[in-house]
Formats: sequence, C-alpha cells, structure tokens
Amino acid sequence: MSARILEGAAVAAAIRERVAGQVRELSALGMTPRLEVILVGDDPASRSYVGSKGKACQQVGIRSATHFLPAETGADELSGLIGRLNADPDVDGILLQLPLPKPLDGRTFLDLVDPSKDVDGLHPVNVGLLHQGRPVFVPCTPAGVIELLDSAGVALQGCRAVVLGRSEIVGKPMAALLLARHATVTVCHSRTRGLAAVCSEADVLVAAAGKAALVTADHVKPGAVVIDVGVNRVEDPALVARLYPGDPERQAQLAKRGYTLVGDVDFTRAREVAGAITPVPGGVGPLTIAGLLQNTVTAARRRRGV
Ligand code: NAP
Repeated sequence: MSARILEGAAVAAAIRERVAGQVRELSALGMTPRLEVILVGDDPASRSYVGSKGKACQQVGIRSATHFLPAETGADELSGLIGRLNADPDVDGILLQLPLPKPLDGRTFLDLVDPSKDVDGLHPVNVGLLHQGRPVFVPCTPAGVIELLDSAGVALQGCRAVVLGRSEIVGKPMAALLLARHATVTVCHSRTRGLAAVCSEADVLVAAAGKAALVTADHVKPGAVVIDVGVNRVEDPALVARLYPGDPERQAQLAKRGYTLVGDVDFTRAREVAGAITPVPGGVGPLTIAGLLQNTVTAARRRRGV
C-alpha cells in the first residue's frame, strides 16, 4: 500500500502565520524584528536561498537586509562586519550564508556571531544548550522536521529513530531534538556498516546524507515514517527515468531545466513500504525558512525583553 504523503507547505504556512502575528505584536511596541544576512561570493544556490529568505521576511513583516560581499573578501573585513552587526542594538538576527568561499572557514566566522543573534543556531553556545535539552535557537531544518512530525501526529516517545547524516546543521541537531522527545536515536554516517539493516529498524527515519536516492525500499521498515531532508540535483536522464518511471512531469522538468531535484530517498520504491513519507521537493524544504523566521522573532523577543 502506498504511504501517506507528508507535505511541508501547510505546516510552513501555519508557522508563518504564527510568526506574522508575533511580528505584529512587536511592531506595535516599536520593535519590528530585524535580520541581517551576509552572503560572501556569488554561488547561485546561495544567492537563491538568500533571496527566498529576504522575501519570506518581507511577507511576515520582518525587516531584513543582505550584505553582498565579493568572493575575495578578507577575513578581517568579514569579522569586522560581524562585529558591527553584533554591536548594533537594532539588529536582532545575523545569518551567515554557508558555504563560504575558500579560504574562509565557516566555523571560524560562525563562532564570532553573538549567540543572542545566532538565528541559525550554529554558535557553540546554542549547540551546547540544544544538547543539554534547553534550546534557544534550534537549526531551522531539524526544527522544521519536528514541527512536521508533530503536525502529522507521529508519536516520538519510545520510538526507534534513525538519523542518516551527522552534519552540524542537520544530522546532529536532528538527533538531539529526537532524543529530547524521548526517541531512541541512532545516528548513521558514511562509515556506518550495514546501513540498510540499521535504517530498517527505524520507526522514524530521517535521511540527510546529500546522496540522491541512497535510501531504497530495503532501508525502510514497513509502516515507518520517512523524512527526506536531502536535496540533490540529478541531471542523468537514465537515473531520472529509473527513479520516476512513467512520470512525464519529471522528464519535462529535466528537459526544461537540465536537472531535477531528488531527495536522499528513492521515493517511488520507499513509498510502497513506508507508512508516511515526505516528497522532494515540497516536503521538508518549505519548513526551513519558516524556522528562520521563527528564530528571528524569538531573538527579537528575548533581546528586547518582551
Ligand atoms: P553534509 O554536511 O554533506 O553531511 C552529510 C552527512 O551524510 C555526513 O554526516 C556524511 O557522513 C553522511 N553521508 C554521506 N554519504 C553517505 C553514505 N553513502 N552513507 C551514509 N552516510 C552518508 O550535508 P548536510 O548539510 O547535512 O545536508 C544533507 C542534505 O540535506 C543535502 O542534500 C542538503 O542539500 C540537504 N538540506 C536540505 C535542507 C532543506 O531545507 N530541505 C536544508 C539543509 C540541508 P560523514 O560525516 O561520515 O561524512
């Protein structure tokens, strides 16, 4: 039987509505939240993400601006800008768009962001608080996954959860959030032995490996909830035909754009085994920006004592 499809758009819309209400409350007090985004270099994907974030801020009434810096920006210049934004009392949130162009190291500059303005939740102070079970700013994508699971009525307490991926931005915070919700959590990565067997024990499987269709039906326990965080560009027509047999929309997209976006899960096969599953695109994606909006409002409320 085919799985229930978990779409993120409706959940994201509800979060945005909630945030817009909170922004209106702050604005009435003369405290409209303000987010400053830093983009170094001209990576087209980063530029597109930054554009979407600015638009989303505008839609809910958050003030936002983007600092576009050239790829050859020096470390002193970047740290100087972060320092100025940290010191500006009117700035609530600072978002450093990753990855940074070489030789700049993302970690070094994330560490410079004032933890009270760290709306991506990547500063060591916020990472530590999350792992102690007293989160302030939670990385946006895993926070969105939890919202999606809650909205779908998935019971996490006592369940077996497997997180595929151990990045700072998705895998590790995802595992911490599931653990805080009393799931029994296993984290897999590129050195995990017997990946399919480990994954197939999961009641809730979160895939965040960045490998197109790595998770097949063999990785999925019958009836499991499968959350696909991965976003991978696939340009190979033979692979697209194998992953989406008889799907003219995908073929048309491939022909038009030269690629199609594929998750880490072989959706066509996994949905026949899973109980519920997120599509790509349209599953987790819309929730990430909603999480950023929520974190920006949280920062404004905390900093301004509301
Ligand atoms: P990342 O930093 O590259 O981390 C990938 C993780 O997956 C690593 O821990 C890696 O293991 C593991 N991995 C890679 N290949 C594997 C394999 N064959 N078997 C088992 N584990 C494997 O990626 P990320 O930033 O976490 O992102 C993951 C995916 O989510 C990407 O596709 C990204 O585009 C997507 N994403 C989507 C959103 C959204 O809004 N939807 C937001 C963020 C990220 P090691 O640690 O051993 O290297």
